Amino acid sequence: MTQKNIEKFTKIKDKYFAKLEKLGIKSLKLNTDFQVLKLDVNNIDGLKNFIWRKFNSIVKENDRDFNKLQHIYFEMEQFLKNEQKGKDSTYVRALFFEALIKYNKEISKGVLLEVVIIGKNNPNICDVCKNDNGKTFNFDYALNNHILPHKDCMCKSGCICNMGISSKRDSHGKLIYLD
Ligand SMILES: [Zn+2]
Ligand SMILES: [Zn+2]
Repeated sequence: MTQKNIEKFTKIKDKYFAKLEKLGIKSLKLNTDFQVLKLDVNNIDGLKNFIWRKFNSIVKENDRDFNKLQHIYFEMEQFLKNEQKGKDSTYVRALFFEALIKYNKEISKGVLLEVVIIGKNNPNICDVCKNDNGKTFNFDYALNNHILPHKDCMCKSGCICNMGISSKRDSHGKLIYLD
């Protein structure tokens, strides 16, 4: 049993420590902070709490860097889905889309953008998600309203719709510039 726990513990630790380091946490600091805890290998929950706290600490350190935030929130959602089954990850997905939209605004260089909902081509998705598939939204509307994940989604595993952001074009196919 203990051998199995060691393997499980190590697998989770290695997987997420690598992700945390990729997101910018220094390996030395991460490992030092971890060792201070002196966690027992049977304490998988303690390990997961540690990882979650570290994710939150990089959110705080990068709270103006929307490009970075998209990546952090993406990994946080994956973590909740894979390691905290049963916990709601919808709000993290909403934060991910918010960062995505804000980042695209930053790099748009004054070009008018629009947002399109990209649904999954899957017969099991709910009507809410199905009906919005391909729908485009005014960029400012998307910026100020959480359009994804769908709040009234009834899909079994939650809304998995995605979002595409592109530059809006006029009837002549030309980019539209904001003053
Ligand atoms: Zn949806
Ligand atoms: Zn749905």
